[in-house]
Amino acid sequence: MILYSVNNFFKGHRMNWNKYPTLEIINEYLNFLTKNYPSICKQEVIGRTFENNTITMMKVSNGNPSNKAIILNAGSHAREWIAITSALVILREIVTNYDEQPSYMKDKDWYIIPLLNPDGFMYTQKTNRLWRKNRRRSKICYGVDINRNFNVSWYVKGISQTSECKNTYIGPHPFSEKESIALRDTVLKLKGRLNAVLDLHSYGQIVLHPWSGKSEPTDHKSIHNATAAGISRALYQHKKSKYKYGHTYHVIYPATGSALDWVYANGVVHSYVIEGPDKGYHGFLMPPEQIERTGMEMLAAVKYLADVLKDRETGEEKRSSWF
Ligand SMILES: [Zn+2]
Repeated sequence: MILYSVNNFFKGHRMNWNKYPTLEIINEYLNFLTKNYPSICKQEVIGRTFENNTITMMKVSNGNPSNKAIILNAGSHAREWIAITSALVILREIVTNYDEQPSYMKDKDWYIIPLLNPDGFMYTQKTNRLWRKNRRRSKICYGVDINRNFNVSWYVKGISQTSECKNTYIGPHPFSEKESIALRDTVLKLKGRLNAVLDLHSYGQIVLHPWSGKSEPTDHKSIHNATAAGISRALYQHKKSKYKYGHTYHVIYPATGSALDWVYANGVVHSYVIEGPDKGYHGFLMPPEQIERTGMEMLAAVKYLADVLKDRETGEEKRSSWF
């Protein structure tokens, strides 16, 4: 025990990549990076939750004024722990190996939100491992599904869940939740230089593009298809994991009010979700031995995306008349 504490003291944080972290340890790790890599890391609180936890975002940047921005979001669904740790592994790799990164990684402003839903996450650690929503107190039940609370196809009869006790409850109105507001405002603040938004989830091994709430194809169908296919290919080339890809509505199921659709409808063409491993054997309960491997796999996807976008302008081209 003493040795363990001393070790942590020298390390500066208690993050252990073979074990799922608590909220406290995640925050400790973010503080560690901010303190030890001050020239590239800057922390920002982008929201405060129902239970008064902070939603923290890490900006990683070399300060190059021509950099485009990429948002990497995770943990809107509380039980998807492997998505949260994947965002942390990606953050660790970019920051602690910064000098070795290719220019398409360095000449970007990274905005990494490893845990959008800290209240729900804490609940999964203490009470119910399979909790999905946040912890808003409604009349009878708790929680809104943050990823059903965005203002695009927010309510579609027959698809959207309006009962507050259900797992995919859409909330009393669009953007009723602090977490969806935090992501929305971050996207809006970066508008004009935002290249892509990647939202990490689990599970199923699928790369998803808009729309999730509409069956018709997007105006950028071929770009979406080619990029999602490229991400899937990069994932396969990394360690031979097979990822399907496609139009969310058809390739998994219709999902209304998603961040994926809202981001795209608001001018960021490159809006994707990756449903990480596995295909259902462990499901949401990915063993902690998979943290490192999955994180590195997701990094391969992120690197592909950053590389393919390196010469492009923001995704806002041809979108001025939209919405
Ligand atoms: Zn999810």
